[in-house]
Amino acid sequence: MIVDSNGDVVSKIKGTVSFDDVLLQPNYSDIESRSEVNLGHRLAFNDLTLPIISSPMDTVTEHNMASSMASLGGFGIIHRYNTIKQQVQMVETVAANLARFPGAAIGVSGDFLDRARELYEVGTNVVCIDIAHGHHVLMERALKTLKDAFGSALHIMAGNVATLTAFNDLADWGADSIKIGIGGGSICSTRIQTGHGVPTLQSVLNCAQSDRDALLIADGGIKTSGDAVKALAAGAHFVMLGSLLAGTDESPGEIHTDIDGYKYKVYRGMASQEAQMQWRGSVSSLEGVSTTIPYKGSVTGIIEDLRVGIRSGFSYSGARNLAELHEKATFIQQTPAGQLESSTHILTRNK
Ligand code: IMP
Repeated sequence: MIVDSNGDVVSKIKGTVSFDDVLLQPNYSDIESRSEVNLGHRLAFNDLTLPIISSPMDTVTEHNMASSMASLGGFGIIHRYNTIKQQVQMVETVAANLARFPGAAIGVSGDFLDRARELYEVGTNVVCIDIAHGHHVLMERALKTLKDAFGSALHIMAGNVATLTAFNDLADWGADSIKIGIGGGSICSTRIQTGHGVPTLQSVLNCAQSDRDALLIADGGIKTSGDAVKALAAGAHFVMLGSLLAGTDESPGEIHTDIDGYKYKVYRGMASQEAQMQWRGSVSSLEGVSTTIPYKGSVTGIIEDLRVGIRSGFSYSGARNLAELHEKATFIQQTPAGQLESSTHILTRNK
């Protein structure tokens, strides 16, 4: 609570910023070609050349998406809404095709330890504890159990969290990388249903103040390469994407065609009615929606566009790599008039 010198309450509300509230101020750049920009970062046992991780959702990442992400320099996490056998098979399919293992998601209760063990036994070295509210006693128990069982042989990604306290706690409980973002996903209705959440960019800015070693993954609400650059500039090492990668050949699910020939696929939140009914057979709190998304063809084109946009973003900040971006990036806040100017705004004129 903020109180002025007379003791009057000025505000109970902390200010926050979302992606569209800010811009990055261009800096002097001596980068002569965008190919000089290195977007890579190490994630566990993998040197990634692209800071993009595909989300462990059942309409985003199974073996096809994970294989493509790996061959494009990013990383995929196979979702956990399946049997252990099915998930292990998907992991093995990727590792047969490529010399790299994808990540695989687990929960915090039920079969999570058996799942982690079987995944580890076939070669998985990154598991992602994927739950909606990660700053939770069940997360603490699961992280400690996994660290006791696997030590540093298994990289543990965990989330999601929205605050610096949560980030530090998860790091202290054993998380090696932490997914940041609550309520910002394109298919998310957590804020509507519960009133809780923090804009993803603000959460990343806050968590980046941490003195722990855990890596930061910005997750939810990234709709353009510009948003990805902002998340990375705010302190993230990677961005996790759902909607940007959904609707592609590599995302699970059929391509539907309507009577006008328009092609689309389903993209749904894992807490949507449809997903909960399919995977659990019952519905508890509805915190996601199921929707359709235009069919986009191969994910390769999407990823290459993102790579070009993110590289260009680094170059505007005069940054050759992520460390330089973190050091050099300067955010400015924009007004509603600035937001309007920032979107394409030419008027269509009829002849
Ligand atoms: P997007 O990239 O904006 O589409 O957001 C994807 C992210 O939304 C995922 O990586 C999850 O963190 C989050 N998410 C997935 N399903 C749900 C849900 O049902 N409710 C809330 N958030 C979700």
